[in-house]
Amino acid sequence: MDLFDLHCDTAFECATKLDGVNLAQGARHLSLNRGSYLTNWRQVFAVFMPDEYRGEAAIAHYERVRDYLYRQEQLYSDRFRMLRSGAQWHESSEGRCCGILSVEGGSALAGRIERVQSLYDDGVRLITLTWNDSNELADGIRAEQGRGLTAFGRAVVKEMNRLHMAVDVSHLSDAGFYDVAEIAEAPFVASHSNARALCGNLRNLTNEMIDMIRQSGGLIGLNFYVGFLRDDENAHMSDILKHAEYMLSRGCEDCLCLGSDFDGCDIPPDMTGIESMEALYERFLKLNYSEALVRNIFLGNAARYFRKNIFEE
Ligand SMILES: [Zn+2]
Repeated sequence: MDLFDLHCDTAFECATKLDGVNLAQGARHLSLNRGSYLTNWRQVFAVFMPDEYRGEAAIAHYERVRDYLYRQEQLYSDRFRMLRSGAQWHESSEGRCCGILSVEGGSALAGRIERVQSLYDDGVRLITLTWNDSNELADGIRAEQGRGLTAFGRAVVKEMNRLHMAVDVSHLSDAGFYDVAEIAEAPFVASHSNARALCGNLRNLTNEMIDMIRQSGGLIGLNFYVGFLRDDENAHMSDILKHAEYMLSRGCEDCLCLGSDFDGCDIPPDMTGIESMEALYERFLKLNYSEALVRNIFLGNAARYFRKNIFEE
């Protein structure tokens, strides 16, 4: 089967907490070995930026995780490649993991607009503007004042649009979301967020936000974290399907995809990690969705977005 996953923290976990363990072995939920059953596998690897890092410390942290991924690419050149160009995007990916570098927290820019271009040159194709707290770009969803984009944040969105990078609103304050929706000149994404109507956690999207992302031609990646699936956190795989059904009931058949959050969260107890995607796929089919729709959720929608908006040259 095929998979396009918009968010995992595996590289961050391996590079920092697990002392550089190789990607073949990976972390708790995802590894090259465990994903090797996939035919076409496109995986966004996020450099998670803890909110305690700012300025030079943030840059050093970003480079540490980036360099880890570069090393893994050398080590496993037969089955792992980071995508950096339209030409690479169009090459056959069969039998290998095609990684896309992302940054989860605009603090990696250290407040310098020219760093958007350097991140792009490194291969970064998606930036989650904030993590939970505030940074130079905007407030995150847990920051007290809930402010929207700063002047620098607006300049970053503009520069990302110019360079064809995906602007990611997951973790962003509600005010920041509306600022992005207003000024973005290209479709934007919520890489790992669910529906607030089903689970009230503020990390999830309101109906209005879902509609605005859909209308922009962007993407919404379903997050497997139990705390974003159910208010009581007693979530199972079936709850992922409930969020999917809800999004589909709002017309999201062309923008819905997956943003697992593997190795960044606690997933439902009836899942173990990347190998559980097969069972999830089967569960979708049992709901009598067409195979074409399920394939679009697992790969097609995200592939179309990245082909059209990010890797088209
Ligand atoms: Zn996250």
